[in-house]
Amino acid sequence: MDKDLVDRVTDTAQRVVASGAISANGHGNVSLRVPGADEMYFTAGPSLRNHRAEAVVRVGLDGTLREGDLPPIQGAVVAMHTAMYADQPEVGCVLHTHSPYATAYAVARRPIGCWVEALAMFGLAAGVPVADYGPRGSQEAIAGIRAAVIPGVPAVLLANHGVLVFHLSPELAIMVGGVVEEAAQYLVDKRPQIEFIHFSDPDDLGHSDGWMSSPQLEAVRHTDRCLRTLLDATAASGLDRDTLFIISADHGGQVRGAATGGSDDLPRQLGTELLGERPAPLRLPVMRVQRPAAALPGRDREFRRQRQRRPAHPRKQAPLEAAEHQRGPRRRRRRTGSTA
Ligand SMILES: [Zn+2]
Repeated sequence: MDKDLVDRVTDTAQRVVASGAISANGHGNVSLRVPGADEMYFTAGPSLRNHRAEAVVRVGLDGTLREGDLPPIQGAVVAMHTAMYADQPEVGCVLHTHSPYATAYAVARRPIGCWVEALAMFGLAAGVPVADYGPRGSQEAIAGIRAAVIPGVPAVLLANHGVLVFHLSPELAIMVGGVVEEAAQYLVDKRPQIEFIHFSDPDDLGHSDGWMSSPQLEAVRHTDRCLRTLLDATAASGLDRDTLFIISADHGGQVRGAATGGSDDLPRQLGTELLGERPAPLRLPVMRVQRPAAALPGRDREFRRQRQRRPAHPRKQAPLEAAEHQRGPRRRRRRTGSTA
């Protein structure tokens, strides 16, 4: 046995315990790939807490014990470590724990979504998937893990069991194990039900560069790609079954005749501009509210007061802004009969 490598394994075990992302009894196991060889060093002790150097074993990536004493109960989980090394040549460390919050998700067979920024920072923007259940150490369990692994995502939940993390180094693996546990704990403790995301570029660039300008159109395309990323990540994590997406926007430059000198339907124009002559049909019911500022009566009054303070000669401003100055308040009064 290489003493330095044994020390690294026990040190990693101790740091997993110190990280707190572990069950009270310290159950779990850690392995390190032996650089340049087809083998790994593996913790064969019953707990990672105070794991002894003498209980570290050397195992071939084909699963055969090469040195040390490997009890059957620990031997059963060797295959999920060797499978990760075999499938991903860059992986240098595999760790498995029953960290309580993440294991709660594993038992519920629910993926952990990317609802904390740290998950995205550590390669888990798609969340943590769940591997189908198979009896501990069985071929079925290994096949389930392999099927669940998302390329580039360094962790999976093991249904009705725990967590498996595989990364370049022990430091990164420990970090990911901790972040996965934190993300699971956050949702269990806080139970947030709404996530609000604001894509402001289409509006900002419409005002700064003009409606239908190429920067604004690019901003719309970019926002569309961002939305696709979110939808895909939600689907990959399995959360789409329980998620309602509500997409809203402001008036979208929809002022009759204002935006491009004729049409009153800028959203349709945007679709034509971006997608060709046949804008993608909207499959969901769409409710359009012409005057968002009127949604709250108090806000509406404040909105009008602000407009009345704006400078004269609106024709020198961006076309839509000018149109809003000229037409907005007057049209509103005419249509609603308001005297405010
Ligand atoms: Zn386990």
